[in-house]
Amino acid sequence: MHKAVGITGRNSLFFRRGAIIPCLSVRVVDPSKIFFPRFPMLPIVESKRPSLPANHILNWDKAAIQTWLQERGYPAFRAKQIWKWIFEGRADSFEDMTDLPKKLRQELSESLLLWTSTVVDHLESEDGTEKLLLQMADGGRIECVLLREEHRRSICVSSQVGCGMGCVFCASGMDGVDRNLTRGEILEQMLRLQRLLPAEERLSHIVMMGMGEPLANLQNVLAALDVARHPEGLGISPRRITISTVGLPAAIDRLAEYEVPFHLAVSLHAPTDELRNRIVPTNSKVGIGAILQAADRYFERTGRRLTFEYVLLAKINDSPECADDLVKLLAHRGAMLNVIPYNPVPGLPYETPSPERIHHFRRALLEGGINVMFRQRKGDEIQAACGQLRRIRQTAPEA
Ligand code: SAH
Repeated sequence: MHKAVGITGRNSLFFRRGAIIPCLSVRVVDPSKIFFPRFPMLPIVESKRPSLPANHILNWDKAAIQTWLQERGYPAFRAKQIWKWIFEGRADSFEDMTDLPKKLRQELSESLLLWTSTVVDHLESEDGTEKLLLQMADGGRIECVLLREEHRRSICVSSQVGCGMGCVFCASGMDGVDRNLTRGEILEQMLRLQRLLPAEERLSHIVMMGMGEPLANLQNVLAALDVARHPEGLGISPRRITISTVGLPAAIDRLAEYEVPFHLAVSLHAPTDELRNRIVPTNSKVGIGAILQAADRYFERTGRRLTFEYVLLAKINDSPECADDLVKLLAHRGAMLNVIPYNPVPGLPYETPSPERIHHFRRALLEGGINVMFRQRKGDEIQAACGQLRRIRQTAPEA
């Protein structure tokens, strides 16, 4: 599962397959210095797209809820109760919050929204993986996944609608990036997946490896993760929360400055710039060197061991030379390398390497002293690689 979106550095937006569309930078100017344009003003065209609701309670912090309550004559402590119902009590509506006065429940239902998305599809795989395709209030679609592995209950969450990074093998970025998700929309995915679990089970891990580039939406991602880790939120330790990035050095540095040491995973996919430029288009503006330096600074600052991710693509990045180059790049770093055999995306020409090829690649890394983990693909039959389900549902009519 996986994928991301976003505005990447400077004044460019990456759209599909890495084509760069420049956008205008905005400056604040002295109004007296503005001269009349020589062109007639363009008519204002109203967007037909529905806007995002301002009354999504998951976008409000506790203080905002308290103010709302006090304005209506309710004590501030009700905010804590409401929060508890949402995160611990797994309420599906304000009506379910049975220890609130009936009138308050009614007012909440009339004024605020707990859910802003609708579940368009819900797929379950035999290995216990479940995937939701959600349609947001403005029509944008995203995916999120629940994975069951022994005692772990991990969720994979999206940070953007679509993705702007244009990694050539990934489904999420095939239509470019649409927009950042709000804090509430990110939390909503977590809560919808939490509600798939029986009452006695808790979410244990979060990976920001759904659609989008989390570091291109850092503010909202961190706001949501702060609720996820808070004891009155989902209470998940930051050690069990992973932010996965294509590698945006400036944003990695900002994350390092943040007081909470989340786990950082860098999607490397190639050991040389020559190869990485071909499969991860954003690399040509950044370079592996700058990404690794930022990752090293993250490690120095937080003490959190880094993870690098490597999607194994047949005949592209699975050669013995690639394994050797990876050893040179990573052996002295003590980082973990997570190798994920490619999950094929219909319409894309990439393939999963043969088991034999995977075996050789793995052996070369182990012999080179790399801490390597070969991840089993999960939920293949439910298109669990991020962005896949959304694409299929775009091209096939809803059943
Ligand atoms: N933009 C971020 C997070 C989303 S992608 C990032 O690049 O890390 C999460 C991970 O899933 C990335 O490592 C990505 O390369 C991987 N991925 C994307 N499509 C995949 C596929 N079809 N099969 C296997 N892994 C895939």
